[in-house]
Amino acid sequence: MRKKIIAGNWKMNKTPSEAKALVAEIKEKVAGATCDVVVCPTAICIPGVVEELKGSNVAVGAQNVHFKESGAYTGELAGNMLKEAGVTYVIIGHSERRQYFGETDETVNLRTKAALEAGLLPIVCVGESLTEREQGITDDTVRRQTKIAFLGISAEDAKKIVIAYEPVWAIGTGKTATAEQADEVCGIIRETIAGLYGKETAEAIRIQYGGSMNAKNAAELLAKPNIDGGLIGGASLKAEDFSVIVEAA
Ligand code: 13P
Repeated sequence: MRKKIIAGNWKMNKTPSEAKALVAEIKEKVAGATCDVVVCPTAICIPGVVEELKGSNVAVGAQNVHFKESGAYTGELAGNMLKEAGVTYVIIGHSERRQYFGETDETVNLRTKAALEAGLLPIVCVGESLTEREQGITDDTVRRQTKIAFLGISAEDAKKIVIAYEPVWAIGTGKTATAEQADEVCGIIRETIAGLYGKETAEAIRIQYGGSMNAKNAAELLAKPNIDGGLIGGASLKAEDFSVIVEAA
């Protein structure tokens, strides 16, 4: 039985003091959670959030990690820096990174390997654009993204990775994939993992759904057999909504 995982991707929201105030509220509300709970603030908010969450059941994730250990990469953060700051998870290859910051399947693979190397647990994002869905190539797209993301990663490491299926057309639009649509694509991702590593690894790996998941639709999505959690954007910025989603898991 896979343990569900609910992660909040705060994107570029909240100042350090606002972030601390938000997690102070969240940790109270989710103290009895039976699933894994993660918040992913901006990098500058991480130290304060880690401090505020000490002794709680809420883990901290980063929103990106660079693929080199150190060096002349202005503006980037290395895995060991995040690790030392108290980070457990890291989101990799979010569609906003792919769309606005030139992230490719190949850099997603490099970052995923670097994260594992640093002892971080990657949350690897895949998902089709609206055009890809309309062209009927959703399956091919997520298969390709998944295969390349996992290139050169052992089965043992693969099990540590969380995959987030986020259809780009559902992100921040209020248009959620139906629970059936989301479950179907998560199933295709799981099949792809089975093709790469075998059934045991595929059954162990956790696959989240992300894209306009909220307090109202979470329960239906999370009840589906292939959906093991959620990567929540907008609704993770309100402690009340986020905690309702955590409870639904
Ligand atoms: P929304 O929940 O705001 O649609 O964002 C989803 C997302 O991109 C999480 O990573």
